[in-house]
Amino acid sequence: MLTISNICHLTAINNRKFAAQSPWKDLTLLHSEVTEMSDTLREQDKGVLPRVDDHCPNFNNEVIEGADIIIRTLGYLLKRGYTEQNIAGAITAKLQFNYSRQDHVKEATAADLIESLGGVGGL
Ligand SMILES: [Mg+2]
Repeated sequence: MLTISNICHLTAINNRKFAAQSPWKDLTLLHSEVTEMSDTLREQDKGVLPRVDDHCPNFNNEVIEGADIIIRTLGYLLKRGYTEQNIAGAITAKLQFNYSRQDHVKEATAADLIESLGGVGGL
């Protein structure tokens, strides 16, 4: 079964440039995606309406840059040898920690949140 992280991994390993580049270069490119997403917000702060993405015209640029961040992050972690289970477990652990913090807590608990998402599983 294909999952989001499998798709990202397959995309990444089929890209020779990505497969050969060093991890710090991967992180540099991830950072550039964050900058691109930030640029979309800066444009909106100036009153510019969200732009349609040049390459994916069914979506605005902000959500496509968010997708780039997720794709690059998952591709990086999978390339570094972490499994989907490692990543899902780390996300779950971090959500649980975040929801244990008083400044993050509203009414839901981490268990409620995770349960509402269908439990711990693939991404
Ligand atoms: Mg981008």
